[in-house]
Amino acid sequence: MIPSAEIIIAGILVGIVLASSLTHFFALISQDMPLFSRKVVCESCGVSQSYSRRIPIIASLLPGRKCSACGHEPTPIYVLLELAIVIFSAWAFIVLKPILAFQISVIFFALIGVTYMDLKKWIIPNEFVIIIFAMGVLGIVTETLDLNISLLGLVLAAVVSLLIVLPQRFGGGDQTLALGDVKLCLVVALWLGWILSAYVFFVASLMAFITWIFTGIFRGFSVRRRIPFGPFVALSTMIFGIGRVVDPQFVTHLLTFRF
Ligand SMILES: [Zn+2]
Repeated sequence: MIPSAEIIIAGILVGIVLASSLTHFFALISQDMPLFSRKVVCESCGVSQSYSRRIPIIASLLPGRKCSACGHEPTPIYVLLELAIVIFSAWAFIVLKPILAFQISVIFFALIGVTYMDLKKWIIPNEFVIIIFAMGVLGIVTETLDLNISLLGLVLAAVVSLLIVLPQRFGGGDQTLALGDVKLCLVVALWLGWILSAYVFFVASLMAFITWIFTGIFRGFSVRRRIPFGPFVALSTMIFGIGRVVDPQFVTHLLTFRF
């Protein structure tokens, strides 16, 4: 079935809105400003910028991309992230029902935000966590998600947090971590439900462990070294979350190992 032009345009529009929000959110979070601030600011010095800075992808080509006050130039990585969001959202609207496409586009956007911020600044911004939570609630309200399975997901996330995430807080020297990871685990589990969450947490732990081994080989082993858990949770949520919405029997296939 060839999707209608309206659907494709809707997907691209949602993608553009999300993509233009991404770097705007990054700048506001970097400057500790409220997310609903309408002001466009420089992520480095906080000075107001022109609204053209919010046009995704194109803004990086405009002559005014450098901050006039501090000369800061946004990283080219932003262009790739924005492009990924627009393409993903267009794809989602073409292959999925609009309500599902909307949920997964917003979650994709928030997971990219979480991953980038966690790798760059070692924080998982609450703003992105709240956005993922909102999509979980939307899924339950629109009955695209099963309430019981979602609530069991929360229970599972709580157990995983107690066993895997929180011990890092007491074992490691870094006292600031873990709570962001816990919040992220809880909100993705609400949206994923307990079965997919189990896979996501297992795969994320495995990836974190492998990373710990590999970085250990090069930099020496230490229990005090922080394992970034957020990006791995985000990555596996993308894989399993996308798998579920594309293939409604995905969970059955996972449980029976038959595809
Ligand atoms: Zn600046």
